[in-house]
Amino acid sequence: MTHYIFVAGGVMSSVGKGAATASIAKILQNRGFTVSAVKIDPYINVDAGTMNPIEHGETFVTDDGTECDQDLGNYERFLNISLSTESSITTGRVYQSVIEKERNLEFNGRCVEVVPDIPNEVISRIEKVAKKDKVDFVVIEIGGTVGEYQNLLFLEAARMMKLRYPKRVLFTLVTYLPTIKTIGEMKTKPTQTSSRLLNESGIQADFILGRASVPLDQTRKRKISTFCSIDPKDVISAPDVDSIYEIPINFEKEGLGDRIIKKLKLRNKKRDGSEWEKLVNRIKDPKKKDIKIGIVGKYFESDGFSLTDSYISILEAIKHSSWANNRNPIIEWISSGKIEEDSKELAKLKSYDGIIVPGGFGVRGTEGKIKAIEYCRKNKIPFLGLCLGLQLAVIEFARNVCGIKDATSTEFDPKAKNPLIDLMEEQKEVMHKHKYGATMRLGAWNCKLNKGTISSKAYKTENISERHRHRYEVNNSYKDILTSKGLVIAGVNPEKELVEIIELKDHPFFVATQFHPELKSRPLSPHPLFNEFIKAASK
Ligand code: GLN
Repeated sequence: MTHYIFVAGGVMSSVGKGAATASIAKILQNRGFTVSAVKIDPYINVDAGTMNPIEHGETFVTDDGTECDQDLGNYERFLNISLSTESSITTGRVYQSVIEKERNLEFNGRCVEVVPDIPNEVISRIEKVAKKDKVDFVVIEIGGTVGEYQNLLFLEAARMMKLRYPKRVLFTLVTYLPTIKTIGEMKTKPTQTSSRLLNESGIQADFILGRASVPLDQTRKRKISTFCSIDPKDVISAPDVDSIYEIPINFEKEGLGDRIIKKLKLRNKKRDGSEWEKLVNRIKDPKKKDIKIGIVGKYFESDGFSLTDSYISILEAIKHSSWANNRNPIIEWISSGKIEEDSKELAKLKSYDGIIVPGGFGVRGTEGKIKAIEYCRKNKIPFLGLCLGLQLAVIEFARNVCGIKDATSTEFDPKAKNPLIDLMEEQKEVMHKHKYGATMRLGAWNCKLNKGTISSKAYKTENISERHRHRYEVNNSYKDILTSKGLVIAGVNPEKELVEIIELKDHPFFVATQFHPELKSRPLSPHPLFNEFIKAASK
């Protein structure tokens, strides 16, 4: 019998609803329950694969190749489980399947209506997760903020779900309590208004998680209790934290776990949060030495703002491995565009313990990244290339070591004379038909590691599986010249003979992958390649 906890947001966006959802799921998991999570995104896009990372943040990819919201990454990292396509719901997906069913006469000729047919489809998708994973809990995050038009149908689904399972559904509202600097008082009014907006959708919150810069005091809790018809014990403080991984521990301290168990009349199971506590202690240990990692990218400049969301999984992977190696990560952004404008910028790379060139699309910024890679290769700075990072490392090597001066990718120059990086045959077809949605090489693919390489030592095994998201590949017709000049091909996909990992010898650490290892790094099981990178950078 699965229980369902819905999480909606009030007051404003970006208050950490995703981390709150993941943390609720985590405290239940630590209490011995099996848990899965679902993210509902109100946008019409069928998935997150076609959106610009500056606007939407990173596109996360699951093993089954679903391109989804970055919150699924949070759920996977907190719960240490792999999710699948069912955990990602968008307005686009929901309408697409309802319309398909209608076209297939699956509604037996009746009129198909927005309500109840759309919410019913949402409910059946959530139930599918419960059935597939046979879990005790599904925690469902509803994207957006209460009061907007966009997520009304999802709130309607949540309301209808409560009707269907009155004893197995709880609602959580995550709000924000601002403190006006000049007055110095934490205000509850926006929370009260949000709670009423939720009431308008026929939903009464069981819990209100009050996000704020500091913990809520008893006066604030009582006020929210009175105006939002909720027990003060169910008003949970969610103050700012240095690391999101502290949140489950804070929620437990606030009594959230006990209150959920009580409300659902469940029996307590054996609790074990010790591994998580150890992790948080390691994160907070002030004695760790700093390690400085630079990311040479382009998806963080937006009207003067620096957006870290575009590379969130990479940031987390660096942190996981740094903590595991008893280091305190200092991560900085290096704009590839700036390197292109002024080559003096390159010398700054020397001040880093390690450099990462992450994934990306399009030609903009690539020459700056190639220069950065050359600098790391020549100056023996530990380097990790990810996806586009691998492609550019191959181009750099071809140009500057193999002497193929015009080496490039057909992504940057479709008529390239020396396409070191090129589209796979099936990709050519897809691009020709302008079918861009969910058509990249996506999700988990096998990779066989070659013995004696840095990678095989890191993974301690021969056969691995990693997640992909790209269209272009190393062009195998250049393999011989590249390897004859010293490039090591450390991993290959056995089914299609695709180059998956390259390395360099005589370098403290120079590894690049065609896949995205960052997508599988978790705080309790950091990724082996990031571990080796951080170890090399620590030296
Ligand atoms: N643009 C490159 C490709 O499509 C790399 C993609 C990526 O870095 N994820 O192959």
